[in-house]
Order: sequence, then C-alpha cells, then structure tokens
Amino acid sequence: MKKQTKAIDEPFCRKDPYGALSMPVYNSVAYEFDNAQDMADTFCGRMKGPDYSRTENPTVTYFENKVKSLTGAADVVAFNSGMAAISNALMAVVSEGKYIIASRHLFGNTLSLITGTLRRFGVKVILLDLTDAKAVEEAVNKDVCCIFLEIMTNPQLEVADLKALSVIARKHNIPLIADSTTIPFTETDLGGLGVDVEIVSSTKYISGGATSLGGLVIDYGRFDFVSCRLRGELLFNIGAYMTPQVAYMQSLGLETLAVRYNKQAENALWLANELYKLPGVKVNYVGLKDNPYYEISRKQFGETSGAMLTIDLKDRDACFRFLNNLKLIRRATNLFDNRTLAIHPASTIFGLFTDQQRKEMDVLDTTIRLSVGLEDVEDLLDDIKQAL
Ligand SMILES: *Cc1c(COP(=O)(O)O)cnc(C)c1O
Repeated sequence: MKKQTKAIDEPFCRKDPYGALSMPVYNSVAYEFDNAQDMADTFCGRMKGPDYSRTENPTVTYFENKVKSLTGAADVVAFNSGMAAISNALMAVVSEGKYIIASRHLFGNTLSLITGTLRRFGVKVILLDLTDAKAVEEAVNKDVCCIFLEIMTNPQLEVADLKALSVIARKHNIPLIADSTTIPFTETDLGGLGVDVEIVSSTKYISGGATSLGGLVIDYGRFDFVSCRLRGELLFNIGAYMTPQVAYMQSLGLETLAVRYNKQAENALWLANELYKLPGVKVNYVGLKDNPYYEISRKQFGETSGAMLTIDLKDRDACFRFLNNLKLIRRATNLFDNRTLAIHPASTIFGLFTDQQRKEMDVLDTTIRLSVGLEDVEDLLDDIKQAL
C-alpha cells in the first residue's frame, strides 16, 4: 500500500470488541493478567503486551505502528514532547567523556540540552558547520559517539548533505541522528539517505493543528542498542512516554498530515514568491530557485520545501513594529499550526542566549520567522503588506 493509505488504514494489534473504526483511547494505567505466569512473562519481556502505561499503552502502540509503517523503520518510540524524544534518544547514545558532533544551528532547547544539561553529566560537544562534510570528517575522533543535526535548520533554513554525513558516520560506526521536524516523513526517506535515528517533534505538523505536544524517535535499526535502551531502560527510568489522549489526536493527525502539509507548503511557496517582489524585504525560503539549498533540498526532500520561511527587515524595531501591526497572522511561537504564526526568534526562542551565542548561531536581530498555515494566501499577503 502507498503511504496515504497506510496513514488511514493501519490495522489494530487486536480486533476491537465493538468494531470501533478509530483506535480508542485506552485511558488505563495498568492491565490485568489471566494468571501469575503470564504476568511474570510480560514483565520480563517474554510475552508481548502492556503491563503499565509508563512503558506501553495500546493507543500509543497504535500510533507508533502507524509511524513505523509510514517510515519503514525498525522501531518507533513515542514521547510526550519533541524535547523528550531528543533527550531520551541522546541519553541512549551518549556517556560520560564522549563527544557529540552537532550542528551550530540548532533549535534553542536542543542547543541548551547539549551544551548545558548533558555537559553537566560529562558529555562533551563539538559544534560545527555540518554543511561542511570535510570539517566533520576532520573532527571525528574515537570518543565521538554520534553526529546530530536538523534536516532544515530553524530559523536559518540551512540544509546539510545527509548522504555525505552518513558516509562519515558509517566509516566511524557512529549513528547519524537527525531532527526532521521541519519536513514530515511522509515526504522523505531519511533512512534511505543514511540517517540512523530520526527524531520528530510531533507537536508540529503531525498533531493536526497544534492539538498536543509529542515527540517520536524513529529508529532505522542499524544500531540495535538505541531502541533497546529506550524501551528497556529509559521509558522505565525517565518516564517520558506519550499519553494515550495525545496518541489518539496524533494518530488522527497522521491521517491528514500529507494533505495539510502539501497545502501549507504550496501556500508558503506562493507567499515567498510574492514577498520576493516587495521592496525592503529579504525573503529566505528553500523553495525559491536562487536559494543556496534549493538543489540539495529537492534531492533529499522532493518537490516541496516546507511551510517555514523568514523575512529580514531593517532592524529589531522594524521587526517589532511589523509584529505589532499584524491583524490576522498570530504573534506566537510553534510551527505548522493550521493558522499562520509569526515570531522574532532573536528576542524570544533565542532571547536568553548572549549576543555572541546568537551571532555564532546566525540568529539575526532582523529576522521574522513565519510558519505558514492553511488560510487563504491572499488574506495572508494582505496582512503582511499592511503590517509592513
Ligand atoms: C519544536 C521543536 C522541537 C521541540 O519540540 P517540542 O515538541 O516543543 O518539545 C525540537 N526541534 C525542532 C526543530 C522544533 O521545531
């Protein structure tokens, strides 16, 4: 079956006693066993099935299975936020004294996780320009335990060559870990491009209109220990598993993901082309033909280029004036809601970093980030024009 059919028609693990068409929300903490032996076998992993919802829940398993069949992954584990997925995946891979090679362009909390939280536990980090594969090759040493990047960075919109990085990762037998939040897996085949572990904030496109927080670790199976540690150790000890209500909403989100995404990406391209014509506005969108990442993005992610774009205005004051003038577009963080959102990343998501750190991350005071929604594009353009 094709992806869109799988997104709708993933079979349940067990037939529903009432013939429910949607996977019900199993709002149960624990599960009863027929006898003591089954209970012992389930607890010790010799028999499949849930025992306690911190580590397994039928509604969450259904959601994970849908993602598994859409991506062809070996295993998928769902978490209660994108950050929980990132921190748990990294905790499955890192240890004291080891290095993470990571892009210098990272989501703010990911950067602070790697350079702050994990550093306190003795994990070291090498921040690099990951579009420069040669620099990565030179930086790998025997204590590097993974390479981590975002497939399209936010808000810089930089796209690294995943195949080139995967060649380096393979050579040194370390996992290539990619946060793919900005382009959904219905459009890509990151496993085929050599990514070993894909991470998604399902809060964004998948949740179906900003309904809920969630995260996914999609394991392509080249490093067995990743899912083993996630399922056998970290779900138990850290306790950040997705809840069944969220899995229900996000399973529903998956059914319409490709349709919503493609419309949002089409709207973003249309807007980017219109904004390109306006004087005094600098547009950054990977789908514009003169964008430096246009070709590599086509090669890796196909025809569409996501629903995130940025515009640069004269200075911070001009950005704040623009935001304050908006009437339709919402001043809010988050990405890929059904409604269009605008934010000034330098003063918000990256507001607590130092000027020097922002400079190193290329987070500019002049940049407004737009997440383009499902409204009529002409209304969006009118709002942007009057706000300018
Ligand atoms: C939002 C986001 C995250 C964090 O996800 P949450 O669900 O908010 O925890 C991580 N990476 C990227 C690229 C994001 O956009």
